[in-house]
Amino acid sequence: MALQPWTGRSDLAGLQIIRTASYTFRARLASRFRAGRVFLLGDAAHLTPPFIGQGLAAGLRDAGNLAWKLAYVLTGRAGADLLASYDTERRPHAKALVTARRDAPSRQRHRRFGGLHHGPFG
Ligand SMILES: Cc1cc2nc3c(=O)[nH]c(=O)nc-3n(C[C@H](O)[C@H](O)[C@H](O)COP(=O)(O)OP(=O)(O)OC[C@H]3O[C@@H](n4cnc5c(N)ncnc54)[C@H](O)[C@@H]3O)c2cc1C
Repeated sequence: MALQPWTGRSDLAGLQIIRTASYTFRARLASRFRAGRVFLLGDAAHLTPPFIGQGLAAGLRDAGNLAWKLAYVLTGRAGADLLASYDTERRPHAKALVTARRDAPSRQRHRRFGGLHHGPFG
């Protein structure tokens, strides 16, 4: 019974489903976070299944990493090469988080979420 982990019951008699949400889990990482003047942040750069709730937080870290660098470069306080550090600093961290989700305890993952779609890196 798919709902048993949440209801604690082996049957659905008397239960009424009042809301559902459908989404697809993905574990994906962009091969680069920058193409010229375009920067990828958040889910556009890394998609993480929501097993330990870090997808949005990782996107905020991207913004925190990039925003001050853009401000420095645009106001002449740093050279444009500073922007290269966005990819080198953020992508390894995002990859570690995506991999951590992918490798979350499989018994718990499969019991609660019914499996995971792996990305291109593993
Ligand atoms: C079930 C579930 C639970 C989650 N729980 C957590 C949690 O507990 N903690 C956590 O940190 N994260 C969690 N996440 C992940 C989190 O929701 C995402 O990582 C986060 O919302 C990504 O933000 P984003 O701004 O990068 O992308 P999005 O929120 O996807 O925003 C992108 C926006 O761009 C818009 N858009 C797309 N294409 C275009 C276009 N061509 N033109 C204009 N607009 C466009 C979209 O409509 C959307 O509004 C969860 C995700 C799911 C599915």
